Amino acid sequence: MIPVARVREVILAACPQLPPAAVPVADALGRVTAAPVVAGHDVPSFPNSAMDGFAVRASDTAAAPVALDLVGTAAAGAPPGVEVGPGQAVRIMTGAVVPAGADAIVMVERTSPGPEGRVTIEVRASPGDHIRRPGEDLRAGQILFEPGTELGPGHLGVLASVGAETVVAIPPARVGVLSTGDELTAGIAPLVPGQIRDSNRPMLLALVARAGCIPVDLGTVPDDEIAVTAAIQRGVAGCDAILTSGGVSVGDFDYVKTVLDRLGDMHWWQIAVKPAKPLAFGTVHGTPVFGLPGNPVSSLVSFELFARPALRQMMGYRTLFRPEVPAVADEALRRRPDGKVHMVRVIATADADGRLHVRSSGGQGSHLLRSMALANALALLPDGDGVAEGGTVKVMLLT
Ligand code: AMP
Ligand code: MG
Repeated sequence: MIPVARVREVILAACPQLPPAAVPVADALGRVTAAPVVAGHDVPSFPNSAMDGFAVRASDTAAAPVALDLVGTAAAGAPPGVEVGPGQAVRIMTGAVVPAGADAIVMVERTSPGPEGRVTIEVRASPGDHIRRPGEDLRAGQILFEPGTELGPGHLGVLASVGAETVVAIPPARVGVLSTGDELTAGIAPLVPGQIRDSNRPMLLALVARAGCIPVDLGTVPDDEIAVTAAIQRGVAGCDAILTSGGVSVGDFDYVKTVLDRLGDMHWWQIAVKPAKPLAFGTVHGTPVFGLPGNPVSSLVSFELFARPALRQMMGYRTLFRPEVPAVADEALRRRPDGKVHMVRVIATADADGRLHVRSSGGQGSHLLRSMALANALALLPDGDGVAEGGTVKVMLLT
């Protein structure tokens, strides 16, 4: 059996980053930048008020309280159309252009209305008070984000603030998902004996979408060499990577193995991990292909351990792996020595002190998908007897 870390190395070496492209900012959430992002103009682009209040000449307020003549109102969104002369003030709203002549804003809470046509300023203002200077936030030509930045909602806001239309980033990988097996049915019709519903395909399509890729449904094909060949060829032609499930074990009808061996340059691994021990990986016409196991839990764990990091690398992410953190086992998590790391489906919760605690989420057979669905983490039990109640265990967080 080959260790998980070695398998990851081989896979990552065969999954280079996709070429960058100009991505519309509207589609850029979650993308990773591939060139420095530069501000096209200053933000703010004009001096504006940080408060609702009054624009004044600071020198006029030296002897506050003082009454100033009210000569107009400046609202956000339009040039003020008035100037502030000596002894004058303009009512101003947050975000409005500071009128010429004014050099300070006095917040409305530090003023009182009147007498007649005037406003009484109750405090001394200093030049610059509550004025947002041009370029105070961002300067034209400034590098906003270095290459390798994962764009989140805040980044999209910054890009919008400088009027960026596109950003040079790694596009999402198009990832094909194919199920194989004569026993599989995709519809909702009653099952005939021997049939099962194809749960891997919707699950893997969802995992792919969650990983930030574009899922491409390649359908369900029977255990038939011609059908499997056609589906894989169609997949590698239109996708950046493909995932198949089923047919990679040692059964009589495991044609995925035969087909991939003929079309591609494949590794067939027995990995020192449970579940997810068998894995096929290689490239077909340069496209990475992951032959995931058929058992649904194995398929999901295999995706998490091996496919997701590779897809993230292709999309330029700097962190590839799920975080692994220590947790307290609130119940014993027992296992037998067998040379493998066991990935135990657990529910992790944080206590009031921020310490993580884990409990099994249910049965651990690799066909028992519900306990996988309920789990939010996988406890990593190294080869041995497991961990006693109250012991510390490393967990891989899935959310
Ligand atoms: P295989 O690797 O093809 O031998 O499949 C291993 C087990 O996983 C068998 O019990 C299959 O019926 C089951 N299986 C394979 N593909 C799927 C799928 N797409 N959805 C649900 N179960 C599957
Ligand atoms: Mg099969």
